[in-house]
This record gives sequence, structure tokens and C-alpha cells, in this order.
Amino acid sequence: MTRREELLAEMGLAPIWRLRKRTASGPTAEQRAERQWIEIKQAVPACTACGLHKTRTQTVLGVGDENADWLLVGEAPGAEEDRLGEPFVGQAGKLLDNMLAAIGLKRGDNVYIANVLKCRPPGNRNPEPNEVAKCTPFLKQQIELIRPKLIVAMGRFAAQTLLATDATISSLRGRVYRYEGVPLIVTYHPAYLLRNLPDKAKAWADLVFAKKTMQAL
Ligand code: SF4
Repeated sequence: MTRREELLAEMGLAPIWRLRKRTASGPTAEQRAERQWIEIKQAVPACTACGLHKTRTQTVLGVGDENADWLLVGEAPGAEEDRLGEPFVGQAGKLLDNMLAAIGLKRGDNVYIANVLKCRPPGNRNPEPNEVAKCTPFLKQQIELIRPKLIVAMGRFAAQTLLATDATISSLRGRVYRYEGVPLIVTYHPAYLLRNLPDKAKAWADLVFAKKTMQAL
């Protein structure tokens, strides 16, 4: 440190060239991401882009580690999610937590969970194409911010939306796709598995496949 810098330090001041350097460098990538998370967390609860805002109790953005390697994407909030503001709660949520535990994962720990739609369709009806089209930009932004290593699309709507296809889950399973460059694997939605117990074994195989894919990345 020069004598001049020492004097400035004694006065509690930083040399002007250092201040200029800090200002000129602008926000870091982390600071930009932090700001964008704040913006999306304000934008989603205020969103009225589709008719679902009229019937929701609250929006459900997503939950978990915002720097996760694993991103799980489901369809839309159900009644419990709408009430509590968190995705995958209730019976389907418990099943999902058990499935995650079986491959050594835990909700919130290197895992982020979100839905295609952020508001509950009344009576848990299927999402309509215009609702999916209006809401997808939020999910896209989440994916850009999280930058996961692997996406697991759970259920028909998540898979068809992210892969822009009409293909069925059974025909999409067992392969690695790409969404904006991020590897993506398709499996069944836990709510579907609760109604179709024999397909649990297939979902288990999908998760093992996902884990192997992640290990190879
Ligand atoms: Fe907005 Fe999505 Fe809710 Fe529709 S479902 S009101 S697009 S947040």
C-alpha cells in the first residue's frame, strides 16, 4: 500500500480509482440472478395473465435449492398446494419425497421443484393450452436462473410442454432429451402413480436412469 493509500485508509476512505473500478464492473452474475429471483417472486403473485388468477388462493412458484443440480417439473398446483403455497404436498408430495429418498435425494437439498402452471386449475382440471402458453415464461426464467444439470419432467403436461410434443409419457420414457441444452428425462407424475400403482416400478426405473444420467454428466 502506498503512503497515499495508507492516509486514505486512516480516514476510512477507499482510493477513488478503486471506487471507479467497483462501479465500472457493475453487478456480478450472482447479484443479477438474486435480483431476477426477487423480480419473479414479486411478478408471479401479481400475475393476472390468464383466467386462473380469479380462482386461485395463492400462486405456487416452486420450492427448493435455487442453485440445485436437479430440477423436477410437475403440472400445476392441486388443492393442498393452492392452500399452502408449496408444490407437491399431500399424498403425491409424500410419494415424491419417498421416491427422491430412494435415490439419495431430499426436497430442498440440491433439488428444486416447480410446476408448469403457478395457479391451480379449478377442480384440478387439465391445464388449457392458453394457460400453459401464458405461464411457461415463468418456468423458463426459473430454469435459466437455476441452471440445473438435469430436468425431470413429471407427467404428460410437463413433458409435452418442455419438449413441445404431443407424444405420450410411455413413448417418451427411457431417453435423454434436451431443453435449452439441459438434459431432460421424462417420468410419470406422482399423482398418476397413486391411481396406477403398477406403474410405480416404471417410475422407479426412470429415477434410477435419471441418477445414472446425472452421475455421467
Ligand atoms: Fe399468471 Fe400463470 Fe397464474 Fe395464469 S397460471 S395467472 S399465467 S401465474
